[in-house]
Amino acid sequence: MKVLLCYPPFCTPASPPYSITNIYGFLSNNSKHEIKVLDLNIKFHNRVFKEYKQYYLSLKQNFSYDEYNKITNQFREESKAVYLQSNMDVVKGKKPKEFEDMLKLITEHNPSIVAFSIVYSSQVFYTYALIKELKKRNIKCVVGGPSVNDKLREEGVFLKNEYELLEYIENVKIDYDTLNNDTILNYKLYDCEYFTPEAVYPIRTSSGCYYKMCTFCTHHKDSFYYEYPISNIEKSINISDAKNIFLIDDMIHKKRLFELCEIFKNRINWMCQLKPKDFSYDELKRLRESGLKTIIWGVESGSDRVLNLMNKKTNVAEIEQVLRDSKKAGIRNAIFIMFGFPSETSEEFIQTIDFLKRNKESIDIVSTSIFGLQKGSEVYKNPKKFGITKVNEESRTILEPKITYEIETGLSTNEATILRKKYKKTLESFNKYPKNMNFFREHLLLM
Ligand code: SF4
Repeated sequence: MKVLLCYPPFCTPASPPYSITNIYGFLSNNSKHEIKVLDLNIKFHNRVFKEYKQYYLSLKQNFSYDEYNKITNQFREESKAVYLQSNMDVVKGKKPKEFEDMLKLITEHNPSIVAFSIVYSSQVFYTYALIKELKKRNIKCVVGGPSVNDKLREEGVFLKNEYELLEYIENVKIDYDTLNNDTILNYKLYDCEYFTPEAVYPIRTSSGCYYKMCTFCTHHKDSFYYEYPISNIEKSINISDAKNIFLIDDMIHKKRLFELCEIFKNRINWMCQLKPKDFSYDELKRLRESGLKTIIWGVESGSDRVLNLMNKKTNVAEIEQVLRDSKKAGIRNAIFIMFGFPSETSEEFIQTIDFLKRNKESIDIVSTSIFGLQKGSEVYKNPKKFGITKVNEESRTILEPKITYEIETGLSTNEATILRKKYKKTLESFNKYPKNMNFFREHLLLM
């Protein structure tokens, strides 16, 4: 039996996919069948946007920020138009762009099973078209990942995780106690270059978030938290010959971070995502000395009331101190802000702007979003508690229903969006690096 693990278009082509690399590692340890990986997303981008790739591959340390923003704006506009047209074609029952070539890349492996990993909803359309076609050729298709929706479940067999995939492939009930869970990531499996001047490899060090309490978040809500052995992470780095690592965990425990420091020291340039809480200057300095270059901080708001509602268990005074210490330790601070949390007032919106102004010196780049109500989040389950009076769900052809809501007090989604537009220039003035590095975050590690 030949099993092909496939990462479909479309998502940012900045690094090889973690999901199928991880599944490959697990299946190679536990299955006798032939397993292959195919990053169809990078294959698509290498064909359609190769001039852009050349630009990113040749980026040097003294690059022009204006040129970078101009070229990346162009890439984003062009790619968005291509994705949109392809998605519309799928909805109309037509073939999306490069379809025959992408299909050939799959069928030339002569697979018995194609397992699609759907990490982003933007991958749903192309996958849908591919599954329709592969099924006509009697190739079995399975789907898994956080963005699988009902439409894909109707077309392919939905499997929750690598254990279910293994059972499906082996066609027997697996005795979990006999499994080899020493999964090693080997990024050498991919024979292509990505849209970065050097390779950046994504590594997850745990199965999810140990905190799981933020009221807007749905990440990992059903997953059991456990930490992968440090020795496996070290082996993954060695086998992949990694120099640059993006730790993609949404949150990493402080104790864990210092264990990771020990294996990264003097050889890895790395970045990660953290909550601005409980870090002293000395600790941040130690992290910097181990090669940590950039931290993406989940700041979210400059209002203590809003932070409490989000249940972040952070406060503005402490966030400011952590950002100052981090900057002083020589770390690049990229921060996430979320506007329009239910009941946030325009005064609280301005408080966040004031927070950014006060901390301008400590901030390297800001990424903002507008709150979106996620099915399964605490806000969705208890809307009244957050001042939400009505939740509307509007069905769509291929994607999951669009969720909107009405509120008692505070800014509506629309009002928060308008206010953010009004402060666009102010928000951009905090960036010490090209704003488009929020799109290609890997560049924040390399440049
Ligand atoms: S927002 Fe981050 S820290 Fe909060 S629960 Fe979600 S993953 Fe965990």
